[in-house]
Amino acid sequence: MYKSNKKLYYKLFDLYRYKCFINDESESNRLIHAMLNVKKYYNTDLKKIDEFGLKNIGFDSLTISDILEFFSNQELNSLNEAVNSHPKWMFNLILSSVFEISDLQYLFNSYNINSVKDLIFIIYSDYFESKFGQIKQKNYLRYLEFVFFDKFPLSIRNNNSILDIDPNFISKTRLNGSFHNHSLYSDGNNSIKELVEEYRKVGKSYLGISDHSKSHFLSGGLSELDIEHQHAEINALNTFYDNFKLFKGIECEILSDGNLDYETHILTKFDYVIVSVHTNLYQSKNDATRRLLKAIENPYTTILGHPTGRCYGRSPGLDVDIYKIIDSCVANNVIIEINGDKDRLDLDVAFINYAEKKGALLSLEADAHSLSGLNSLKYAIFIAEKANLNPGQCLNTFSYEKIRKTFSEK
Ligand SMILES: [Zn+2]
Ligand SMILES: [Zn+2]
Repeated sequence: MYKSNKKLYYKLFDLYRYKCFINDESESNRLIHAMLNVKKYYNTDLKKIDEFGLKNIGFDSLTISDILEFFSNQELNSLNEAVNSHPKWMFNLILSSVFEISDLQYLFNSYNINSVKDLIFIIYSDYFESKFGQIKQKNYLRYLEFVFFDKFPLSIRNNNSILDIDPNFISKTRLNGSFHNHSLYSDGNNSIKELVEEYRKVGKSYLGISDHSKSHFLSGGLSELDIEHQHAEINALNTFYDNFKLFKGIECEILSDGNLDYETHILTKFDYVIVSVHTNLYQSKNDATRRLLKAIENPYTTILGHPTGRCYGRSPGLDVDIYKIIDSCVANNVIIEINGDKDRLDLDVAFINYAEKKGALLSLEADAHSLSGLNSLKYAIFIAEKANLNPGQCLNTFSYEKIRKTFSEK
């Protein structure tokens, strides 16, 4: 998919949620239609199509002017106006996919909510729990705590981790490479060779490439043919470099029922398979736990990526029985990722300590989508330092040969 289409899609989506929030039904219907059209033509470079062409595709004139405006300055003025006329914290809520717009509407209309603190106390109340249920209450509170950490009342705060660091991990440990990295093949901004050169510059000795899998189509998930091309390129690079090695990986989508989105004959082509969740993050704890367990038990799974799926400003992640998940990873020989993307910072220290005690192998990952994104490895290191992770249980400290052995023994 073209990146510009994706950006346009999300702008329209944000505007759609706002229009729903203010009960503007005709506008929200128009925007739904517009979004479906963008999705349908995600493989066409809409930026290059003129007004007449857009009309032929089926966009209405209002949407066409939105599109032209967006491609000329990357903005949607109507969205900017809406954002500017409301407090920023309120917009964070409206635009997040965590909240159901109808709940927010109801709360804002029924109570005199002037601040995020007011909202937190309402959601925390027994009244909210009995009206909307415990799952929603928990999801909403987790999200609010995550996004508005400094405003979240101490009396309600869960035991969230802050990154104050005990610096000893990095000094006693050498990381030889990492495995969760995206290239131009999906939604990364750099070629595989550019990523390799960056890692060679800082003295690392291997790199795993793990682009998105096919059902993550908004991020350019890989088709079977893409995989063939990518593997040919990796084979060529592995022949080209004497003292640097590449691993063929994939970040495979865990579908809602816990199945992976590739057939076995495709999964066998990779050196390792990272499995992770990006969609349908609001299941019940039972369903969510069952979903992850099924993916972990898949014999092709090598690494569990960003275990809870949380993402700052977008989603608080799955509500899972994390202890069961960790136990299952240990039982099934699945490595657990510590994701250093600063929007994720997933897994928390307390769970790392538990995993370590259970004998798990953990992997520090940048989840890089660009050269500068490779730096996010340092946040994973910060977390590992805080957890005082034993380097012997950290995949990245292994030599190339030991990694090969670890992957092949799966
Ligand atoms: Zn991911
Ligand atoms: Zn990723």
